[in-house]
Amino acid sequence: MDDIRGINEECGVFGIWGHERASELTYIALHSMQHRGQEGAGIVCSNNDYLFGARGTGLLTNALSNEQLLSLKGFPHAIGHVRYAAKGSSELSNVQPFLFKSSRGDLGICHNGNLVNALNVRAALEDDGAIFQTTSDAEILAHLIRRSKQSTHKERVKSALKQVKGAFSYLVMQEHALTVAMDDHGVRPLMLGELDGCYCVASETCAFDAIGANYIRDVEPGELITINDDGIEFDRYSDIDNPNMCSMEYIYFARADSNFRGHSTYRIRKALGRKLAESLGHIEADIVIGVPDSSLAAANGVAEVLHIPQEQGLIKNRYVGRTFIDKGQEARERKVRMKLSTVKDIVEGKRVIVIDDSIVRGTTSKYIVKALRDAGALEVHMGVASPPLIHPCFYGVDVSTHAEIIASQKSISEICEEIGADTLTYMEVEDMHDVYRSFGSRGECAACFTGNYPIEIIDNLLPQQKDLKTKGV
Ligand code: SF4
Repeated sequence: MDDIRGINEECGVFGIWGHERASELTYIALHSMQHRGQEGAGIVCSNNDYLFGARGTGLLTNALSNEQLLSLKGFPHAIGHVRYAAKGSSELSNVQPFLFKSSRGDLGICHNGNLVNALNVRAALEDDGAIFQTTSDAEILAHLIRRSKQSTHKERVKSALKQVKGAFSYLVMQEHALTVAMDDHGVRPLMLGELDGCYCVASETCAFDAIGANYIRDVEPGELITINDDGIEFDRYSDIDNPNMCSMEYIYFARADSNFRGHSTYRIRKALGRKLAESLGHIEADIVIGVPDSSLAAANGVAEVLHIPQEQGLIKNRYVGRTFIDKGQEARERKVRMKLSTVKDIVEGKRVIVIDDSIVRGTTSKYIVKALRDAGALEVHMGVASPPLIHPCFYGVDVSTHAEIIASQKSISEICEEIGADTLTYMEVEDMHDVYRSFGSRGECAACFTGNYPIEIIDNLLPQQKDLKTKGV
């Protein structure tokens, strides 16, 4: 997974209870979810008496030293986090899991997603005397839990969760228990698994595969799960049951080998490609090329339906780290050039259908079309295995303003002209939903395509975001 399209996931989480190799397994699981965040990583462990943690910035291998990992050895319970700084700065103080000490005991906490009432809740807490050390939403939940007057930890977590709105999966660790919660719209993925009789949770099932754990099931929207030495207890903190899984998880974020409800992301993406192919049938082409890696499955689906050979006409360089300038358009363009190159021998003299999973700013698409033409392609037809991405995301994905998104500014024919393709074909929103339904989905968020936000955005909006429609909770 890469960030050259300018759209990034916020985080990945993992937790395991009661395993003698808890910290090592957490490290391996986080490594498998590195695509969900590369700006920081951390692990917090419990030995039933106290919590202890380590964290750092950058990729997991840089974030945690051997000495830090050795210091976590022997703790049987652990939670871990890889972070993309969609919200809040990328400095160390914002790297999760956070570890809090109080007279009620220790609290470790990490999350994936984004609260849509964070500013309001934070302001109310500050007015009440709270002092924040980070800009993260995870710290907000810690304050709410600590201030709750409920008599049990579980009830305190429940009362805290009822006060926050948004897209999230939270892992909350005490000395004696791990509490897991999914927002009541189920926007961000969270899976339950088992290894050697111990329960574990992860943002993606690829983490279970990495440690040899068995997938049990997806955590349900509004569900609250408590895991401790006595076993596992299932509960709910919300009566709302309105699933709105992030469509972009299927399209782009999740690893191709990660499963949703028992179906691999690869299969879902291939089905999106097969559906898209129905709109590409009129194009006469010699080869189908997928943009590596997340679009290869969709390209495979297109090629199968159109009976056109799928070729590897684009190669991705996996070893590009940071460019000298890390932010902004110049950095993005440089990164695209460093990351993608064409196989001239495959492309030369061919009419090409190139399949991408999404277009955000158009930088990557423009480069790809030009690179294919420079390599001798006679025609370049672009197919996108998702609808036009028009609106920003407030649920934990780093596309925050209309100005950043090309389909917000231009029509499809204008985008086609801008990127220099012969034709440009997107997927219809309803076709996308049809594909997800065929894989057992009960509902998806498609707000970045439609502007219909399933969770009301409560925090004050930027002026350019005022036109957003909301369906309400
Ligand atoms: S707005 Fe788009 S990226 Fe954000 S949660 Fe919804 S589908 Fe996912």
